[in-house]
Amino acid sequence: MAACGFNFETFFNIVNGGRRVSDKTTFSIDPSTECRLWEVPVATPHDVEDAVKFANDAFKNWSTTPFEQRVSKISQWKQLYEQHVEDFTKLLMAECGKPRFIAAGEANEVLALFDHNLQLRIPEERIEDDTRIAITRHVPVGVVAAICPWNFPLVLSVGKILPALLTGCSIIVKPSPFTPYSALKMVELAQNIFPPGVVQVIGGDDSIGPALVDHPNVNKISFTGSSTTGKRIMASAAGTLKRVTLELGGNDPAIIYPDVDIEKTAPEVAQGCFVFSGQVCVATKRVYVHESIYEPFLKAMVNATSRIEVGKADSPSTTMGPMQNKMQYEKVQDLVADSTTQGYKFALAPRPITFGKGYYLSPSIVDNPPATARIVVEEQFGPIVPVLKWSDEADVIAQANGTTSGLGASVWSADISRAERVGRQMQAGSVFVNSWAKTTPRAMLSGHKESGIGGEWGSLGFLEYCNTQVVHVFK
Ligand code: NAD
Repeated sequence: MAACGFNFETFFNIVNGGRRVSDKTTFSIDPSTECRLWEVPVATPHDVEDAVKFANDAFKNWSTTPFEQRVSKISQWKQLYEQHVEDFTKLLMAECGKPRFIAAGEANEVLALFDHNLQLRIPEERIEDDTRIAITRHVPVGVVAAICPWNFPLVLSVGKILPALLTGCSIIVKPSPFTPYSALKMVELAQNIFPPGVVQVIGGDDSIGPALVDHPNVNKISFTGSSTTGKRIMASAAGTLKRVTLELGGNDPAIIYPDVDIEKTAPEVAQGCFVFSGQVCVATKRVYVHESIYEPFLKAMVNATSRIEVGKADSPSTTMGPMQNKMQYEKVQDLVADSTTQGYKFALAPRPITFGKGYYLSPSIVDNPPATARIVVEEQFGPIVPVLKWSDEADVIAQANGTTSGLGASVWSADISRAERVGRQMQAGSVFVNSWAKTTPRAMLSGHKESGIGGEWGSLGFLEYCNTQVVHVFK
């Protein structure tokens, strides 16, 4: 993969506008084949110090660069990225194990993120009375560290970089060691456009995230990842009272009313559960079906799920690739084993996948396990889902809300106003009526309860890269 002077097979950390190598290198595994992918440098403590120093230096000029000039630079970066959408699609297929349509979906979503951010303007409010004018402004928070997960490595890092750059912050991206490639290359691309130090990337291992969180000269952490790591980050960030945005895990319920069109709805619900092997923060993780349609709905879900074609990311017939990494593969296998050992009934049992190498799991559906089952209580983040029966509306709402998570939820009914009324009672940051979780960069993504603090995207998310300042001018 090489195009227009950019090589998509060599990867560097980027510090102060330059490519950095390291004495120590690592590599990720292609989950479709378990083969080694390209080498990447492991950033040293010296690289971390440099990146923070240069980010602080760059912040001085970037934060005072006129807003329209910042917008213009972001627009140039978009144009450069547009020439490489196919290269990034291929990288995402290799590093995540995403079938082409999912990888291309992520690469194209980056364009939607650009478009959204390019039309944002930083609001300013003026309140005037007889004695004063009070001007409420939003000023850039400073140096941001973006700590990113492995499931959507490109869109989730660009979703942090754009609002940071737009508001005048400088940013250091820390990709997941499982999927470093697309973020490293995206930041390398940006060096053609932005002054040195404005956007940098340092990856390699799991020591870099904590070093950035502890660093006194980093002003904000924008983190997307598990709730467990989010709690650690929040605790460490307290030492320097850093701003934090935490986008964390979920256990999203779907509530199905008896008036749905079963043949139309069940395949959609199945897609919401199994898209990208369920490795999506807002994938449906628990399905509550009204008892009066439970059997036919379950059957229709099983039929739809049975049509999913598990295979290698680059095979044209594949609709579901492998799990992204061995750790997650083993975690989901453990949940499958637990459901089997506990004697829960599988409406669709996992079937053996015989590709030799690769982290493949076929999708499976557990038939009405108890509410206390691990598969109901835990975030599975993989292709196994429990389907449960309900009869009483108040009770199913209580069950749907009865977890420590609050990321997403969906409600399905022919009666849209009823579905919306119930949707508004979900304790979740994103609620979908008659759809699985189709997010848009134009609307905020946030978590309630242990699914996060603050949020990103939309017309509010970018203000989290700012401190609020009120200037009181007395007459
Ligand atoms: P993770 O928490 O294991 O790792 C995320 C990142 O944090 C990685 O870059 C990792 O290197 C880094 N990290 C690990 N320990 C750290 C520490 N102590 N300090 C600083 N950084 C540290 O998460 P993951 O497995 O990569 O991602 C999957 C999780 O992310 C799931 O729970 C999923 O629901 C969640 N997620 C949430 C959203 C959202 O928008 N809410 C989106 C995608 C994924």
